[in-house]
Amino acid sequence: MTRRAEILVVALATVVPLTTAVPASATTLSNKVVSRLVIGRSVEGRPIRAVQKGNPDAARTVVVIGQMHGDERAGVRTARFVIRHVRVSSDTDLWVIPTMNPDGLAHDTRQNARGVDLNRNWPMNWRPGHRGATYPGRRAASEPETRAMLAFLAKVQPRFLTSIHQPFGEVGKDKDKPIHFQRRLARGLRLPLRRIDIGGPTMISHEPGLQPGGADNGPTLTGWYNAHYPGTAITVEFTRHPGQRYVTAVAGRGIVHASWGDR
Ligand SMILES: [Zn+2]
Repeated sequence: MTRRAEILVVALATVVPLTTAVPASATTLSNKVVSRLVIGRSVEGRPIRAVQKGNPDAARTVVVIGQMHGDERAGVRTARFVIRHVRVSSDTDLWVIPTMNPDGLAHDTRQNARGVDLNRNWPMNWRPGHRGATYPGRRAASEPETRAMLAFLAKVQPRFLTSIHQPFGEVGKDKDKPIHFQRRLARGLRLPLRRIDIGGPTMISHEPGLQPGGADNGPTLTGWYNAHYPGTAITVEFTRHPGQRYVTAVAGRGIVHASWGDR
């Protein structure tokens, strides 16, 4: 090893924080990609890709969605870092989706190619709305990107799902789900854990256990998933301008290591 490489290794060892969570002792860690899938296509025909790491036979499935809003780009880099560099425990079946809105990513727009805010298009408490930043589409699950994710999540049913956004700098708390994963996530990402309110009209819930208003009752991915499946889906909001090291090593490891736990 060259002197320069040695210094780099030492520097990395110094700056990368020790995580508080560790996988169970019988498990092993691997950086191998197990499979790559195209789970659907966007309005303009771009593939929505999912990359699998860890152990496909593990009881615990974890999903990381790097991006839903095409102009919130930091989480795509986090997802790519996880795919390339983060070792995954053999008790975890990890799926990483760098973007579920490849058209928005290509055009640098929040919405998909039809102007729909995909995080208002989920089939729970959906209601019509005007065109604009949070246009919910013509009906619930009207968009191919939403339907691709619905089918994928129904199939893999993750124990933990993280959906990355920007710019509010917080981890969205869901009071109806076990708090442990949410706390590990907030700690790993160095962000406050608090309830996110998506605003907009107050929604009347006909489903037990849900309160009117708030992200946990809107037609969002995490609201829909939490209402329909036993697993925990959490919205993460990075800040507006997170640094390079934050979106890669800190957030990539923080999200994966937060899944080392049963609840
Ligand atoms: Zn967003």
